[in-house]
Amino acid sequence: MSKYLKHYIEGASIEASNGGRMSLVNPVDEQEYETAARGTTEDVQRAVAAAHAQLSTGAWSKLDGAKRGRLLSKLADLVERDTDLLADMDAHAIGRSPMEPRMMDVPNAVANLRAAAGWANQLEGRTIPTSGYMGMKTLSYTIREPIGVVGAIVPWNSPLMITTWKLAALLAAGCTVVIKPSEETPQSALHLAALCQEAGFPDGVVNVVTGLGEVVGAALCEHPDVAKISFTGSPEAGRAIQRTAGATFKRVTLELGGKSPQIVFDDASFEDAVRGCALGLFVNQGQVCAAGSRILVHRSIAQRFSAALAEAAGEITVGDPRTPGVRMGPVAKKAQFERVNRYIQLGLDEGAELLAGGVSNPEKGWFVKPTIFVNATNDMTIAREEIFGPVGTVIAFDTEEEAVALANDSVYGLAATVWTTDLARAHRVAAAVKVGAVGVNCWSPLEANLPWGGLKTSGIGREGGLAGALAYTEEKVVTVLLP
Ligand code: NAD
Repeated sequence: MSKYLKHYIEGASIEASNGGRMSLVNPVDEQEYETAARGTTEDVQRAVAAAHAQLSTGAWSKLDGAKRGRLLSKLADLVERDTDLLADMDAHAIGRSPMEPRMMDVPNAVANLRAAAGWANQLEGRTIPTSGYMGMKTLSYTIREPIGVVGAIVPWNSPLMITTWKLAALLAAGCTVVIKPSEETPQSALHLAALCQEAGFPDGVVNVVTGLGEVVGAALCEHPDVAKISFTGSPEAGRAIQRTAGATFKRVTLELGGKSPQIVFDDASFEDAVRGCALGLFVNQGQVCAAGSRILVHRSIAQRFSAALAEAAGEITVGDPRTPGVRMGPVAKKAQFERVNRYIQLGLDEGAELLAGGVSNPEKGWFVKPTIFVNATNDMTIAREEIFGPVGTVIAFDTEEEAVALANDSVYGLAATVWTTDLARAHRVAAAVKVGAVGVNCWSPLEANLPWGGLKTSGIGREGGLAGALAYTEEKVVTVLLP
């Protein structure tokens, strides 16, 4: 019998209130390998009540920052101890090579928790000079208070890492949480909750309710006792969440999709740019919000660069990620497979030239070939919409101004990379592109101390660093009359 994963509420493992379950399907062989509780509105109410009770008693929210920090450090140690297990969980659920989460996601999760352990004791208020009150002097200062119960809604592409972006910061601030993992990847969130218990967090501080976005996620967004929704996922769900959460004036952070440009100038180190663009395009089968899927290349090198990128794509062995030598597994789910293939067909229909990959039709498993389109224009659908798969579109430009204009001609604004050896140009272009993060001669480094987030359709707010922790606080002003 396959394993059955249940919610984690107030320190206990419990079934859905109606006994409902959902299937977890392996993208390599399309077979069910586990089931998980299919949460109900009642389950959400129970989890929110547990999280809210912890705030009301103050057992967690009023615990001093240094003690919260110590628990966060302990949690970081436990996550580090379970690196292989957590990497395998996240990798298996979406058909990814476990090497990637082992090298990137889990270390980043550990770093997020360690950074937050430091912030927990440093969320300071301010003393603000004022003009006084009716001729008398006053003293005004501010206090940072936890925002309250947070609903953390997480996607499937890097589940542990993204969960810790939220969890580490909100725990540092003294908040409590109900985590809603993706339908496809509840495992690492549940294990993380068990590690919180092992570390000694009071029951009810961290709760996990598994299930569907439209039921569990929506119930969190509607619940009057949830003060903030921290969401990472698609713009479509983000829109629905913002609308629902607006009815009860919740704070909302939205980390959404992208169509990030990688701008390659003719003075770039050619080999580094090819390698970097391929990494930014194909890591995690291209299922990365910051995937550099629009590759803008100076016309003088566009042909040679496209050929090198296509060669890099062709060298990637696609297959079961547990097989030695395989570098790319399947995409995460059937809907994703159909979506990526649909976009590849659209690219062909709209007249882009295929230099590597193409529409895939495997016998079994949701495998997609790494695909490169060239001679494309920025108005083609494959250059405008997020594909969220291993598909890159190369577009040629003639001048720096044109490159910046193309980069900014997008509804998205999450990240960009600039490949150049001209220092002044690197800073000029970094300043001109309308995105939340720019990598110069590197692709989107993961760093716990840096803020992360996008502009326009890529979202609202920042996670990470001090800004990420402060986003889980309210600043209260106290004014004292000094007669
Ligand atoms: P998704 O929006 O379908 O789902 C994300 C989460 O939201 C899931 O847990 C889902 O159950 C839940 N959800 C769905 N509809 C909901 C609703 N109406 N109310 C409440 N919750 C709801 O996204 P996905 O397919 O899991 O992830 C892919 C998307 O996530 C891509 O667009 C990608 O770019 C984006 N993403 C962004 C970042 C970032 O940092 N900006 C990081 C990773 C992924």
